[in-house]
Amino acid sequence: MLSIATPVKNISRVTPAAAKKLERLGIFTARDFLFHFPFRYENYSQTVPASEIHAGQTATVAGTITGAKTVRAWKRKMHITEITVSDESGSVRAVWFNQPYLSEQLQIGKEIRLSGKARSSAGSSANGKNALFNNAGYNKRESATKAYFSNPAWEFSRRDPTHTGRLVPVYPETEGLSSRWIRWQIKFLFDALFKIKGYPASVRMPYVRTIIPDPLPENILAELNLPDLATALLYIHFPKNEIQPVIARKRFAFEEMLLVQIKTLQTKNQWEKEKSASIPFDQKLIKSFADKLPFKLTDAQRKAAFEILKDLEKEKPMNRLLNGDVGSGKTIVAAIAALQTAAAGYQTAIMAPTEVLARQHFLTFSDFLKNYGFSVALLTNSYREIKNFRFPISDLQKKSKLLPKKNKPVARDKLLSETRNGKINLLIGTHALIQEDIKFKNLALAIVDEQHRFGVVQRAHLQQEIEKINDGLPEKIPHFLTMTATPIPRTLSLAYFGNLDLSILDEMPKNRKKIITRAIDPVQKEKVYDFVKKQIRNGRQTFIILPFVEESKMLTEVKAAVAEHRRLSEEIFSGFKLGLLHGRLKSAEKEKVMREFKNKKTDILIATPVVEVGIDIPNATVMIIEDADRFGLSQLHQLRGRVGRGDSQSYCFLFAGQPTENGKKRLRTLVENQDGFKIAEKDLEIRGPGEFLGTRQSGLSDIAMENLTNAKLIRISKDYARKILASDPSLKKHLLIREALRKFEKKAHLE
Ligand code: ADP
Ligand code: MG
Repeated sequence: MLSIATPVKNISRVTPAAAKKLERLGIFTARDFLFHFPFRYENYSQTVPASEIHAGQTATVAGTITGAKTVRAWKRKMHITEITVSDESGSVRAVWFNQPYLSEQLQIGKEIRLSGKARSSAGSSANGKNALFNNAGYNKRESATKAYFSNPAWEFSRRDPTHTGRLVPVYPETEGLSSRWIRWQIKFLFDALFKIKGYPASVRMPYVRTIIPDPLPENILAELNLPDLATALLYIHFPKNEIQPVIARKRFAFEEMLLVQIKTLQTKNQWEKEKSASIPFDQKLIKSFADKLPFKLTDAQRKAAFEILKDLEKEKPMNRLLNGDVGSGKTIVAAIAALQTAAAGYQTAIMAPTEVLARQHFLTFSDFLKNYGFSVALLTNSYREIKNFRFPISDLQKKSKLLPKKNKPVARDKLLSETRNGKINLLIGTHALIQEDIKFKNLALAIVDEQHRFGVVQRAHLQQEIEKINDGLPEKIPHFLTMTATPIPRTLSLAYFGNLDLSILDEMPKNRKKIITRAIDPVQKEKVYDFVKKQIRNGRQTFIILPFVEESKMLTEVKAAVAEHRRLSEEIFSGFKLGLLHGRLKSAEKEKVMREFKNKKTDILIATPVVEVGIDIPNATVMIIEDADRFGLSQLHQLRGRVGRGDSQSYCFLFAGQPTENGKKRLRTLVENQDGFKIAEKDLEIRGPGEFLGTRQSGLSDIAMENLTNAKLIRISKDYARKILASDPSLKKHLLIREALRKFEKKAHLE
């Protein structure tokens, strides 16, 4: 028996090969199929007489096949099926390429409906008077189109046209599975699952609800005037007008946002019941630390640090997002929090997204904290290091044999036992930090850098994971601080970071100069290269970011990078030293390349775009980005932020040949703006929240993603989430919501 839980491979029309391909679209069960939504519709609802078709028109023609032939072209490699369809007014021609099976289906005498975009007008084509369709959609036999459009939603019939004569949905495809095939399949499933033939809607609807129950309670749907689940599915796959899909999408967006908000609230409520270690705010210590820094903290840094230190004092766990532009100095704010935590005798864990960044943090934090006698350790899959500052450096220098051994890898066991017995004050690393055998003595603060890519659900999960490694402090969970890589506009943080308190670094350190940014036509490259040489002779360094190579061609990427490195070294910058960083280098090799650049052993660092350049090299003053028009705005801004970190004037050159309209827009935005928050707003505008957050990991659907900046929807879903949880905290009366939430979490963790 077919049910909505039936795996696709058991659906009669799905071959094993097709089932494999469906997996690529995330479709595993019949249910997933129903939730595979079209991204647009072709309006083929208008049937037009053949003689009135004009070029470019999107229309349906209904008639009889009066001519059919098959032609072989291109040394017989190309297979062309051509038919003529006639109605009372005249005829049209339709051709299909390389679909040989069509000649069997489309035989003379058959009635057919064609839908598509006309290539030429009636009366204009070279060899006659007929309009021409390429690769049109078709349905054999006349079906009741008129009835279809006048019927209410649930008068769905198997005989309704699938590919023609209606608003025809266009689905996300994958290689080997066309939108047409998916459409056909979904129609079949609706028909087979809902067995709705011949019953009036009053009988049918309750039946359908038992097959595919709606998690949203009826009263909420009524209050918000939203369709129930079954109707919304029909609206999306078989709309009778252009409004229906819009209404349906609204419903799905609301449903998902409601789940997000319930999850957020639950986490928050749970959080509020928890306790953390209270870390006293030692103003004298912090002030003396700040006074010894080589620079003056910005007001924004001061304020953020204050907010965090105030939070740490409380027994209520902190859950805070430090939101700041590239280079706004988030690290030092985090270091202040870690210093205070260590001074109070507690441990801090710091997690970074890549090994390179983790190691950089390791060096930065140990440098900041070296005068305080704390131990800082690094743990990633490739690195295990400890810097032991048991005594302040000044003492150490006297007893020089006690100086920390340089970068010597330590045994994992030793590192873990030192963490467990509390000798390590700060443990820095990647995801490798949250492995089962890692236990802290008294972890009181967890800092996660560049976390904007993770959604609500993952963040909750990560927090739970971190709580697990916190062995030694019973009944207490660590305070939590996350930092973003890219500034996140307020409109977005509202929905995405609903349960976090925000600290914003909206001010850059005073010494920063505007980075002079220019879009450069390739013919002017030489001038830029001359400029780079001048900068290097003045002791400065340069980054060159290489063009994108398609992801599927990783090897080619390396080859291209190596070739370009050689070309630049030999032809353009001979006599200079060029380093190369690409995705296939091992961590230790990357580390070496980076260190050589940092120590000025190389003048130019060439890097592929896949490489994380979240690194801090104040002496670099020029950033060149090849094929800049192909990068996203936030990414360009990130890359540009690698220069302009010191006192000297810095430059960013965006090489671009013939950018698209959007590409031009992005380049212009970058040239005209320095403020990361403004650029982020623009980026969000151009790309939408889904791509802006650059994630499939969030577990959110595209519909929900599109709506992350919909303030009204978020407000409403928050209100309902609150109402539901207030009357039913454990969702006992909303079992379907609980179930949906469980599925939602599972999906978020899967990816
Ligand atoms: P991000 O916010 O991108 O993580 P970082 O914390 O890496 O930025 O800081 C970028 C650079 O700015 C570092 O070299 C850091 O030492 C320096 N810096 C931080 N705060 C200040 C300040 N108030 N004045 C001058 N330089 C600062
Ligand atoms: Mg940073």
